[in-house]
Amino acid sequence: MDIPRIFTISESEHRIHNPFTPEKYATLGAALRLKAGSRILDLGSGSGEMLCTWARDYGITGTGVDMSALFSEQAKCRAQELGVADKVSFIHDDAAGYVVWEKVEVAACVGASWIGGGVKGTIDLLAKSLVPDGIILIGEPYWRQFPPTEEIAKACLATSISDFLILPDFVASFGEYGYDVVEMVLADQDGWDRYIAARWLTMRRWLDANPDDEMTPEIRTTLNEEPKRYVAYMREYLGWGVFALMAR
Ligand code: SAH
Repeated sequence: MDIPRIFTISESEHRIHNPFTPEKYATLGAALRLKAGSRILDLGSGSGEMLCTWARDYGITGTGVDMSALFSEQAKCRAQELGVADKVSFIHDDAAGYVVWEKVEVAACVGASWIGGGVKGTIDLLAKSLVPDGIILIGEPYWRQFPPTEEIAKACLATSISDFLILPDFVASFGEYGYDVVEMVLADQDGWDRYIAARWLTMRRWLDANPDDEMTPEIRTTLNEEPKRYVAYMREYLGWGVFALMAR
């Protein structure tokens, strides 16, 4: 069980696999007024940067679940490196349907809402692990500019325009699901660059080291095409943010 290799190749050097920077995660952690000992569940925890830095900075405890063996291993190494291996644990598993019996104060899915079959399904899944007054964190793209054509949506790696909403509609949708939006930290274009542009050097070095791998043609094509497509479309049209929700 693992995620497609294109991600573990192109994002092997990433600590954060989304357009958030370390500063944005620190801002979000401070905004949530986390208390020492608070429990956090993180579905799709990637390389564990959110849980590890919040354990170091705020004394939270946490569990991350991620389907990538590489990222889960990197998360454990990061916990050791930051001296928080006694506070956070990382499980290599499919997070679909993952519910904990000891309920948590914060249940998060930051950039992996397909785990619950979309935003609404992921909120419903996270709610099953949450104490009654707990906080749900959802990290998700939205349209920064509404794409004028389906082709432009696809160039942003969406399957269609309807994959995402513009920010006012997205924020309103949480109310329709019965949740208050109680905090929000949005990524910016510099953060998008850290996420996407950081893939290019990783891919270039991987290509130099792996000229005969079965993935070499795909990585070569991606490196040829991604920079131009990214600056023309994704960087302009796609926003991204983490939204903190409490049930009404
Ligand atoms: N929240 C992390 C990672 C976001 S990227 C961060 O902020 O850096 C999306 C993550 O979801 C990847 O790490 C990928 O391995 C993981 N993932 C994809 N499908 C999954 C599934 N079904 N169950 C658990 N994790 C999954």
